[in-house]
Amino acid sequence: MESKRLSKLPEKVIIPLKQHKGTPCVPLVKKGDKVIIGQKIGDCKDDNDSSVHSSVCGEVQSIEMAPHPDGNKVLSVIIKTNDSTETVQFSPKKNPSQQELIEIIKNSGIVEHYGVPTQSVLKPAGKKIDIVLINATSSEWVGGKFSTPEEYGMQMIDALKLLMKAAGASKGAIVLRSDDAESISAFERVKFEGKQLQVSPLIGNRKIGYYFKDQNSDIVVVSQKRIYGKSILNFFTYNVTGRKVPPGCVPADVGVAICSVKSAKAVYDAVNEGKPYYETVISLEGLANCPSQVLVRIGTPFKDVIEACGGYPAESGKLIANGMRTGVAQYTDEVPVTKTTTRISFQKPEDVQRDEAIACTHCAMCVDACPVELIPSRLAVLSDQGRFDECRKMHIDNCIECGECAVICPSKIHILQLIRYAKNAIEKAYEDLPQKESSNLKLGCACGGE
Ligand code: SF4
Ligand code: SF4
Repeated sequence: MESKRLSKLPEKVIIPLKQHKGTPCVPLVKKGDKVIIGQKIGDCKDDNDSSVHSSVCGEVQSIEMAPHPDGNKVLSVIIKTNDSTETVQFSPKKNPSQQELIEIIKNSGIVEHYGVPTQSVLKPAGKKIDIVLINATSSEWVGGKFSTPEEYGMQMIDALKLLMKAAGASKGAIVLRSDDAESISAFERVKFEGKQLQVSPLIGNRKIGYYFKDQNSDIVVVSQKRIYGKSILNFFTYNVTGRKVPPGCVPADVGVAICSVKSAKAVYDAVNEGKPYYETVISLEGLANCPSQVLVRIGTPFKDVIEACGGYPAESGKLIANGMRTGVAQYTDEVPVTKTTTRISFQKPEDVQRDEAIACTHCAMCVDACPVELIPSRLAVLSDQGRFDECRKMHIDNCIECGECAVICPSKIHILQLIRYAKNAIEKAYEDLPQKESSNLKLGCACGGE
């Protein structure tokens, strides 16, 4: 199934110069410049940043601070579009070396949906990756840009080989969801190394290491029951590889790199077609008669996506970026689709929760609900009081932002927002104190990795 492409070109696109975790790109264009599709308009200063490209042909109207779906304002290139379909000359690269691959990924502007540039996931400074995983448990990507299931399966295998080469990893796996029959059948139709691919279930202690040996192959396709949200990378790593990621660490600390289907496909296109990352597939929900997925040019304002998909329902409601449970409510529909936008949701007025938070009754339901054994009620109180050091001591970093605590709380306390607030404050403290330990915030990974 191929996603619907927006039929109407927006009048303008708003392309933020920062769509990744890191420093903003430096603009390469100025007001009045003409740009074409795929042209690099923002360059990165650092290896951990990611370039940005124009998704349309048109004229740069301004470079100014504009609303971003994460709730902040970000320096953005605003382009008035025209109907031309001129693109830059794409330059595919045959058999690139490891370093060339990293450069291609960086210059193509490929970013994971949780905001980290893909080249930093594959080649993290001072860490060695030996396993690359493609997390294909969110089938919302699958309808992306693949015309047949076989094409999806074959391109993902080829993409995995490219990602492994870029990371210098000897092993790789594609992880599917065990109830995603469409994806499982797509991979089971693919021939790999002369044999029909097998999708093997991860059960109990049987992790991917077992299947590497059993199938005598460095590449396997496995399936598992759980669905993982964007922040649950450490859990995912353990469940798939059996490697425990200690508190405060990331999968790279145990030698694992995790990419999404979306970024894997972008890497495949960047290498084989020379195409930079200027369009993305997003899901839509809550709008009458809209398709479930659309292929959108990065920078398209939400309002243009909604108009092109049938418009708003008669009554007003709430617009949310990246999912009802943990996404961010928008104060304007002038925010653009970015590389990290996965979903636009519209909530009808009767579905919008307007409960006032009341005092905690110490029922402990949030504690029972937390999948990573935190004490959400305590973290919320500490965050509310600005006692961020204590939040850190209580391992707030381990919060995977699943939102279960907030959903279950009978007092309607905004636990997730308070936790995010404290995490941001701690992250800022790290930025301010880059190389030394403060008296109350310990720097560095608790696992002893670099
Ligand atoms: S959002 Fe709440 S339930 Fe989910 S991991 Fe964080 S503290 Fe636990
Ligand atoms: S669920 Fe809500 S009311 Fe119950 S302990 Fe947690 S924060 Fe308090």
